Amino acid sequence: MITIVPVYPQLLSIYADRGNVIVLEQRARWREIDVAVHPIAVGDDLDAANADIILIGGGQDRDQALVADELRRQTPALRSAIADGAALLAVCGGFQLLGHRYRGHQGDEMIGTGLVDLETEAGDGRLIGNVLVEATVNGMRHDLVGFENHAGRTTLGSNVAPLGRVIAGGGNNGLDGLEGCLDGRVVGTYIHGPLLPKNPWLADQLLAWALDRHGVTTSLEPLDDRLAHLAAARAADLARR
Ligand code: GLN
Repeated sequence: MITIVPVYPQLLSIYADRGNVIVLEQRARWREIDVAVHPIAVGDDLDAANADIILIGGGQDRDQALVADELRRQTPALRSAIADGAALLAVCGGFQLLGHRYRGHQGDEMIGTGLVDLETEAGDGRLIGNVLVEATVNGMRHDLVGFENHAGRTTLGSNVAPLGRVIAGGGNNGLDGLEGCLDGRVVGTYIHGPLLPKNPWLADQLLAWALDRHGVTTSLEPLDDRLAHLAAARAADLARR
């Protein structure tokens, strides 16, 4: 049984981040993999042993500020789940909270979980639009497409790998050509869209990690992803314009 845990979806789930949950659940079902979705709300404790894919979505600064302390309280459980082989996908506001801090426009500061060595500061203007990234995961290159909308500019620590390199769009900060972070099975990205419907390879990577945690290493049965590939091609096209 694979357990998907959306973290604070009432507050962290904008630009269709919920689609990521639906895609993971459905791609597991299509393959007759036993799957459950157990969201956690503010006040709940994350059960590290029963969290195979942890999802943290995006949010406005206001919503992020509401959950930052709570999320930090879950850090030991998050660490223990990750150390035990769980996968974590964090998008935009969630990605920012993986790091040490997020400094907003007014100099207001949110302390993040520090799970990944990165930090974020709000910049002038927002990075908004379609994004095309060349991602490398497990030594394999993939196109990653979607939509970004953020004021935060994220800088990765020197030992943290990006999820990919920006071909079109802003990415982490609009300057260094990097997008997201990848640290073991911890994936951070600015890409909404939602992310996984247009990038089924990444959904399957998360599912494969979750299955591996349960000792299942056989490769996932391929699905008919023609529509997803058409949507991705269209998004890539828009990003290139
Ligand atoms: N509040 C953050 C920013 O604007 C995150 C926004 C988001 O999650 N889309 O940088």
